[in-house]
Amino acid sequence: MVKRNVESEALYREVARLLVDRGNCVALTGAGVSAESGIPTFRTQGGLWEKYDPMEFASIEAFRKDPSKYWSLRGEFIKDSDLYQPNNAHIALAELEQMGIVRCVITQNIDGLHKKAGSKNVIEIHGNLMEIYCLACGKEYKAPYVPEGMPPHCLCGGILKPNTVLFGEELPVDVFMKAKETSATCRIMLLVGTSAIVHPAASLPYLAKENRAKIIEINIEKAFPEADYSIMEKAGTALPKIVDEINKFSHE
Ligand code: NAD
Repeated sequence: MVKRNVESEALYREVARLLVDRGNCVALTGAGVSAESGIPTFRTQGGLWEKYDPMEFASIEAFRKDPSKYWSLRGEFIKDSDLYQPNNAHIALAELEQMGIVRCVITQNIDGLHKKAGSKNVIEIHGNLMEIYCLACGKEYKAPYVPEGMPPHCLCGGILKPNTVLFGEELPVDVFMKAKETSATCRIMLLVGTSAIVHPAASLPYLAKENRAKIIEINIEKAFPEADYSIMEKAGTALPKIVDEINKFSHE
């Protein structure tokens, strides 16, 4: 006989009730939300930055010195981006937006998977790897198409750079301002798959909490001890379960 976990069922129900009653939810997502799409997180064992020194391959200083080093590492991911598809967590967040519960997704990820899953209101605070632009004339290119060359060059001869915030680079002020305003005015923050320690994004849940938002954390391990509710589960399992619970209310 399958043993029912009554405690966790009650937690999902309570969280679903809170989302329906309060609304105005903002999701702050990190690398963990894309883990089930096959993209390793920052801290995963064997992850990218364990093999490559980020300061050598993905800092703004290194890019200025030798952009081909960055492109040799990231180019393949960009060209093969169709290999990486949104998972059930991205899809559930898009559904919660359609239901009028999630107002906005603020993501630290650069993989573009929230938009690919259908989320409309997405703030990509670290940019998007699939948007490439020329440092000389500003012309934009859309991955997976990338002009030939190492590093790739624009038709005008300028060097191309993905629209992402590299290590040592400041976040665009207007984008982070929007993320702060959105966090400060939400009534619930869903914290999904983030270690919540990379600054300045790590300040956003505190901003929400200061303004009396409830924090619901979804993570395979406890990363934000100040959360009001913690669901220790894979995002691709937990978020669809929450959507199911919400759907049950409309049939009651
Ligand atoms: P992180 O690597 O520091 O933390 C990932 C968190 O996700 C951990 O707390 C882990 O326990 C949790 N996690 C792992 N698998 C999960 C799953 N299936 N479901 C739920 N939770 C899961 O990531 P971070 O907090 O986003 O910060 C790292 C930085 O690296 C960010 O700036 C981010 O932009 C960048 N990054 C982005 C990507 C991407 O775009 N997909 C991938 C790696 C790193």
